[in-house]
Amino acid sequence: MAAATGKRVRVSPARHAELVGTIEAMHRWREQGGDQGKCPRCKVQAAAESDPTFSFIVRYRPACDCVRVPTPEEEAELSAARKDRRRVEEIRQFRQSQHDYVRDCVGAVHLRSGFGTFHCHTDSQRRARDAVKAFTGNPWALILSGPPAVGKTHLAVSWMRRCWRRSLPAAWMWETRASAEWRKSFAEGVGEADAFIDSLAEAKALVIDDFGVVSPTANGWIVAMNTILCYREAHQLPTLITTNLSSADVARIYGERVASRLGAGIGLRVDGPSGRARESQNGPL
Ligand SMILES: [Zn+2]
Repeated sequence: MAAATGKRVRVSPARHAELVGTIEAMHRWREQGGDQGKCPRCKVQAAAESDPTFSFIVRYRPACDCVRVPTPEEEAELSAARKDRRRVEEIRQFRQSQHDYVRDCVGAVHLRSGFGTFHCHTDSQRRARDAVKAFTGNPWALILSGPPAVGKTHLAVSWMRRCWRRSLPAAWMWETRASAEWRKSFAEGVGEADAFIDSLAEAKALVIDDFGVVSPTANGWIVAMNTILCYREAHQLPTLITTNLSSADVARIYGERVASRLGAGIGLRVDGPSGRARESQNGPL
């Protein structure tokens, strides 16, 4: 019934065990000879069930009290409960993999970061939160700029989680680490390095955290960053960027091309009391 309507079927562990026990006992009874017409334990002749049209014996039902015959409703309840448990397990694994991704790529301090745990202290934080919540990639980029520890990364994590909930695979790129990984990937060949850049350029949704925190002399990386941003702008792929840089700094480090591409996105300045100062005033969030 519940399975047919696609609703969640919640079966208590005790009820689940009871259903499994009843149905398994019946299977055991049949395997041990109950399908031959006599109860394997007490040898009482079982009742034959015949096909109503042709009147040949379809199966035996126990006529003794050695096993209880599960009703068709119980069989259906168990199969729906099994399906539900599989789904619950899949969801659990999916959440676990998201948890691991945030811990490994963003950091353990952001495991609980989400829109619900973001506290606004200033109008610019409120505006940033609303813009990030509404950001779907039209235009392609949303740039949060401002001093450290005003919640830019917190909002970026919240947005990444929202993408995941909407089945949009979102990736996290911390520029400092990405440039180091990219340099390392050259050891495995230019193809590997290109594939690494492609994976970032083509990500369905991407967060670039701490944009601009690389050595300005890392020329190769500047070119790679150009490739990523050009591709993403050309294909209008949603990209959320956090940075401490002003647009003038971006133009100076990455060149006018990158600066003008980013200029086509939504730029928001975020200010507020630093998160660290807040913690010492109000205790940890
Ligand atoms: Zn029996």
